[in-house]
Amino acid sequence: MEKRRVVVIGGGLGGLSVAIRLAAAGRQVTVCERGPSFGGKMNVWEEKGFRFDTGPSLITMPWIFGELFEAAGRKIEDYLEVIPVNPISEYIYPDGTRFTYTSSLPDWIETVRRLEPRDVDGFMRFMKLGAQLYEVSKDTFLRRRPLDWPRRTDGSVLRHMPWRYGWGNYHRTVEAHFKSPHLIQLYDRYPTYVGSSPYSSPATLAVIPYIEYSFGGWYIAGGLYRIVESFVELARELGVELATGANVTSIDHSQGRVNGVRLEDGKTIKADLVVMNGDASHAPALLGLRDEEIGHADRSMSGLVFLLGIGKTLPEMHHHAIYFSGDYKREFGELFDQRVFPSDPTVYVNAPSRSDRSVVPGQGEALFIMANAPANDNDEWGEEQIAEARRRVFRRLRESGFPDLENDIVVEDVWTPRKIGNRYSMPGGAIYGTHSHGWKKAFLRPSNKDRRFNGLYYVGGSTHPGGGTPTVLLSSQITSELIQRYEP
Ligand SMILES: Cc1cc2nc3c(=O)[nH]c(=O)nc-3n(C[C@H](O)[C@H](O)[C@H](O)COP(=O)(O)OP(=O)(O)OC[C@H]3O[C@@H](n4cnc5c(N)ncnc54)[C@H](O)[C@@H]3O)c2cc1C
Repeated sequence: MEKRRVVVIGGGLGGLSVAIRLAAAGRQVTVCERGPSFGGKMNVWEEKGFRFDTGPSLITMPWIFGELFEAAGRKIEDYLEVIPVNPISEYIYPDGTRFTYTSSLPDWIETVRRLEPRDVDGFMRFMKLGAQLYEVSKDTFLRRRPLDWPRRTDGSVLRHMPWRYGWGNYHRTVEAHFKSPHLIQLYDRYPTYVGSSPYSSPATLAVIPYIEYSFGGWYIAGGLYRIVESFVELARELGVELATGANVTSIDHSQGRVNGVRLEDGKTIKADLVVMNGDASHAPALLGLRDEEIGHADRSMSGLVFLLGIGKTLPEMHHHAIYFSGDYKREFGELFDQRVFPSDPTVYVNAPSRSDRSVVPGQGEALFIMANAPANDNDEWGEEQIAEARRRVFRRLRESGFPDLENDIVVEDVWTPRKIGNRYSMPGGAIYGTHSHGWKKAFLRPSNKDRRFNGLYYVGGSTHPGGGTPTVLLSSQITSELIQRYEP
């Protein structure tokens, strides 16, 4: 029987992983990526012996990456070295308080007790809440299309449902578990993992700190871009055709069924199935329908990233460190209500060279420094705006005791929301598509199968179950299962 041909629009993590799954299931797959390299937001910048990940810096739920290799009859350990990072992070506050968030429960409980003895119980209850949410979602929301028919076993997972806190507001739920302002700010940070504000997100996002604490934070030897390199290698082994510089400008269709794509250079590729890995909001325009770009108010946050190659080695630094702002509520008000870069941003400093010396040229450190930024179209991010934002980022770092490294910078690059948006074709540079504010936004993301056109499917962070690397891989599993079910 002739193989059914699939074209995947976009070679991000979602596109590559769905291509691997479909090729392993016997389909003939072509991936068209508009950019110069694969990986989408998981990308790399190399200069003078420094190697920087320009996107993700932390992996959770590593077994989901392993499942992808297993689907192709391979073992992850033959391709990648997955390394646990402990402590998970260092937290630094403007009042001088600093501590490490360690995976060692006895050590962490001791830190919590020092901060606020009553919060030991609060931490245990908060983790139990996250565990319950995880039990409810792990085989339902995370593994299936939204609003799919419930299975007979689904009723039994409801026994885990945390009815008291399951439907509330995230920040208020954190406050109901912790008294220490330091711990409240720490746990309030987690909705930013999906580009959202703790003050507007549902309490169900408490599953994120649970997943990170229980299953750990992970790193890949050589940098996270090794994941992309290994996916490309695996896809090639399975016979996937991979093209960069292949910008898809339209999806062809007739009588309600897609039948191929057209590229910017005029080339057409005939296909029985099309999977969209680019932002789902661009699909209507590619189909020749009215564009349904996500409006400003619905977008998740973007980020401002400085990549610094430092000539000096900094042994006192941790792999991950968070320098909190003085007023978190004001920061999120600026990001989501005023839609401006924060006057006092919380700054994340990632130093993979603390765990892996292969990313630096002998001496020195490779630093990824990031602050949250609004996903606006009208922000030009010209030289002056970058310089002002850089001043604010480094003022926060300096005031919190970060060493002055200005004279030790060997290489530097900056990724603004505009650059992120242009490079990956993301409205305003919104990293996670729509934000997760409110129950509906968090749980009813665009479906993995198009409702109007047969043969058209979606994969990646802008579709179900949402953004973040393991979730994107889960979406590839959901999408490929739907394809096997509806397009045998
Ligand atoms: C700065 C930053 C930090 C992050 N940190 C983390 C982290 O620590 N942990 C974590 O889990 N996640 C993190 N993320 C999020 C994570 O990177 C994304 O959720 C994930 O990589 C998204 O993958 P994707 O395949 O859905 O989309 P993308 O990576 O956006 O891939 C889509 C691809 O489609 C291509 N494309 C779009 N339109 C077309 C077209 N018309 N024709 C051809 N190609 C097209 C784009 O060029 C792009 O390569 C971060 C992201 C960024 C930017």
